[in-house]
Amino acid sequence: MKVAPDIRLDALRGSAPRLRYNARSLAALENNPRCTLRAVLDTSGSDKAAIADHAGYPTPFGRSIFAITRGNSFEKMVKDNGCAELLRVLREVLELPIPQVGYRDLNDVGGDSSLSARYTKTESLLVAAARGKGNGHLYDHPLLRMEVGGHPVYLEPDLVAFKFGDRLYVVEIKSFPVVDGQADAALVKSATTQACAYILALRAMLTAAGIDDPDIVSDKIVLIGPKNFTNRPTGAFVDARNQVNNLARQLSRIGRIGDLLDLLPDGLTFDLSPDESGRPQRPRDELLAALDAVPASYRPDCLSHCEMAYFCRSRARAAGSLDVLGSIVTEPLGGIDTVTMALGLARGAIEPNDEQVEMAVALRHAARLRAELIGAVGNTSIGSSR
Ligand code: SF4
Repeated sequence: MKVAPDIRLDALRGSAPRLRYNARSLAALENNPRCTLRAVLDTSGSDKAAIADHAGYPTPFGRSIFAITRGNSFEKMVKDNGCAELLRVLREVLELPIPQVGYRDLNDVGGDSSLSARYTKTESLLVAAARGKGNGHLYDHPLLRMEVGGHPVYLEPDLVAFKFGDRLYVVEIKSFPVVDGQADAALVKSATTQACAYILALRAMLTAAGIDDPDIVSDKIVLIGPKNFTNRPTGAFVDARNQVNNLARQLSRIGRIGDLLDLLPDGLTFDLSPDESGRPQRPRDELLAALDAVPASYRPDCLSHCEMAYFCRSRARAAGSLDVLGSIVTEPLGGIDTVTMALGLARGAIEPNDEQVEMAVALRHAARLRAELIGAVGNTSIGSSR
């Protein structure tokens, strides 16, 4: 008999309380969309850090206190005095002709900081703005909500959404430096992917209110960061259209999580029920066997966004997967999955199939060049030592 996805997901998580999605875990869906293990762990609300820890692969994760403090103080400085610095950047750097703006602090509603009060207020203000009332307003810490896999997820962005012209924009404030107009590409991608979750949540809120035009929320994110290692903010528009579409696709995949669950063995669980001392009772090998039953697609950037990264890296290494080496190797070697296969073709020990013939020639050529270089270096060092 087929078990309903929710019951199956509860069984996968076991006795632990469900962990809710947040902007970071939603963004991670877009980072590694092929990974079934991550989809199953996140959708079931399992505690990946605890599972990795008990499996013997604890991953140091999260931002340092120093980075958090620096981020908070930079955000505060940008927003001080009714977002005076933010407005300067919007006007001077991004050349937006903003005359006057209103400012709404949505961290609480008349002293009530409950999720429901903040969400209701956010919804009424942003729906009104989308309908043309409140143009040019800045909304500090709006609280957004969206359904993921049938469960409500609240997103509390450390950002401001504002309406300029006929569009709402999401503003993401980050403390990594923008040097000569350039910032670390990985950090920018991570920031914009999180902002994509806010864009989708904002669109969902407006759609629920009967405003069906997705373009009313811009795909362009306003990214604010410190300029050239100073504390002076600068900004840039980042086009996130592709990332928004990718994330939307991943969210609809979660809606079809039942298809993925059907492929997993019956009775599978990542349960970590604790004993009286609070430690998981489950034998480690049993948990490892459960994890091994779910396909994972390790890539080097998993190290920066997933608590399971050390576990998956060790499994990928043990399988000789080329994925461990990243896209710089896997893309040119398309069609070759393992290190063993690549080395076998390079040494002529494996006969290539029709699709691998060209690649095998290139690999053998590279292997010859390498052997010549190693020989030349060896001869030079022998000669120089005489
Ligand atoms: S670390 Fe593992 S579970 Fe996490 S996204 Fe990468 S492959 Fe998937």
